[in-house]
Amino acid sequence: MPYASSVEQWRVYSAEQSLGELSPITEDQARQIVADAEASEWWQEAFPNAQPIEVTFGGGANHDEGYIQSFAEPRGYPRPHSFVVSIHPEMMFLNTLVHELAHCVMPRVYGDPERIRAGELDGGRYSTHGRYFTAAQGIIAERLMSNTGTAALTEAYAFFGVDVATPSELECALAAEPAIYEAREHIDAELRRLDAETAQRSVGPGQPPGTVRIPTIGWGEWLRLLRRDTRGSPNLSQVAAATRISEVFPCTARHLSELERAAVKPTSPDQLTRAMLLTILCGADPIWTRYNYGLTRWECGGITMDQARVLNAGWADLVDHMNDLVKQRPPRWDVPGLLD
Ligand SMILES: [Zn+2]
Repeated sequence: MPYASSVEQWRVYSAEQSLGELSPITEDQARQIVADAEASEWWQEAFPNAQPIEVTFGGGANHDEGYIQSFAEPRGYPRPHSFVVSIHPEMMFLNTLVHELAHCVMPRVYGDPERIRAGELDGGRYSTHGRYFTAAQGIIAERLMSNTGTAALTEAYAFFGVDVATPSELECALAAEPAIYEAREHIDAELRRLDAETAQRSVGPGQPPGTVRIPTIGWGEWLRLLRRDTRGSPNLSQVAAATRISEVFPCTARHLSELERAAVKPTSPDQLTRAMLLTILCGADPIWTRYNYGLTRWECGGITMDQARVLNAGWADLVDHMNDLVKQRPPRWDVPGLLD
């Protein structure tokens, strides 16, 4: 799913950052660890759909927001044919590698193949840092990390209330994937064929066929999706959302409409405040919000927890609870940018 409706990303990051013992690795070691894992029986047994993984170094950085990151990216659509992992030079730890490997082998899609094949919008994507991610990570940790390292990760996950799928749930989700991908490939090819036909038909004789323009998703589009999400309490109209937000900050439907049409993150402090208040109203994971929108409540007009509580009491309680947990087990990574 494109956005988080709980604080699972916050829980996972907090748990990982609270670990003290991180084994540093070199580039050569990282490549070797992955090559050995891929060649092993346990890897092929646990992750029958695993695609080849290329390990690179560099990661990414967001200088505006002051954080660095490592990442794993699929190649190929709809079915990935390989993955690229990129580790930031300041995150050269076995833990980082295990985290990124879990992204490469975790189940990604769910749904009913028959319905997908029939062109119905069925199923979707498993959450990036959800319970199948942590289940895959657990299996890899057990094989690649020391017993103490694995135990520390398990303990940190329990402390932060991280959800982990059982081994048999993971196995079922992985076993279901090939048929789902087949159905997705089938419908993807079908849609492309229809698109090409329509483009041919829609031009006059003697004219070159038009190209199908796939619109790009702007910064504000995710806000709109979040507001219209039907899984939680939101699914609010712009007017209803603006009415709620204006209980703590001046806001009209026009302000929100402007925000949701923004191609890139706006610079107006007032608009940033409204954007952050909207994510609070919708109950988004504040850590996910930070990484995906570049918004934090203290950089958006210093929104207070009292204001947040007016908009979404459940969100405020959860944030208080998470802040409590983080205070008890603070981040220990000596990585600039990650600590703020
Ligand atoms: Zn991740």
